[in-house]
Amino acid sequence: MTPPYLLLDIDGVLIPFPAADGSTPPTHVRHSVLPTGRRPDDPVSIWLDPSHGGLLTDLLTSGLITPVWCTSWRKDATTIIGPLLGLPDFPYLDLPRPQITTSHPHGYLWKRDHVDVWLADAPAIWIDDDFAGLDHAWAAERTARGTPTLLVQPDPHFGLQPEHLTELTTWATQLPTARAV
Ligand SMILES: [Mg+2]
Repeated sequence: MTPPYLLLDIDGVLIPFPAADGSTPPTHVRHSVLPTGRRPDDPVSIWLDPSHGGLLTDLLTSGLITPVWCTSWRKDATTIIGPLLGLPDFPYLDLPRPQITTSHPHGYLWKRDHVDVWLADAPAIWIDDDFAGLDHAWAAERTARGTPTLLVQPDPHFGLQPEHLTELTTWATQLPTARAV
């Protein structure tokens, strides 16, 4: 049996939003990075929690899930973010680049139509800080028709917490398709 996909966002999840005063969590280490297409003299400052490296690696190598990046970092997730956290290599979704001014252009997360087609009938766990009510309804509908779907939505100011990983691990373990670990 194929383990469920784990779709993983970055902004608001691995890189929490800064506080109003611009500060970032003391748990997170700052890095200066150069995303694809960025001018070399114009790097971007990001912050990552080194403890996420070990926690995520344990999950990624558990066999319980099949990881895929689902982020506007796209390929840079695999070449910049993953390596900074020491994560094993895994694929990314080549999300479209819609001309939008809101992350919910149709009342739901802009990534969802692409994800929905890509997943087809595969069970999935999706971690993103930006789901709308319609996304939760979509997940409930998928689940109701026999495609287990779990949305995990961290608070973007705190990002991914160990409890989120505990929750999804418990969920994946209880799936009928789960392998004994
Ligand atoms: Mg996000």
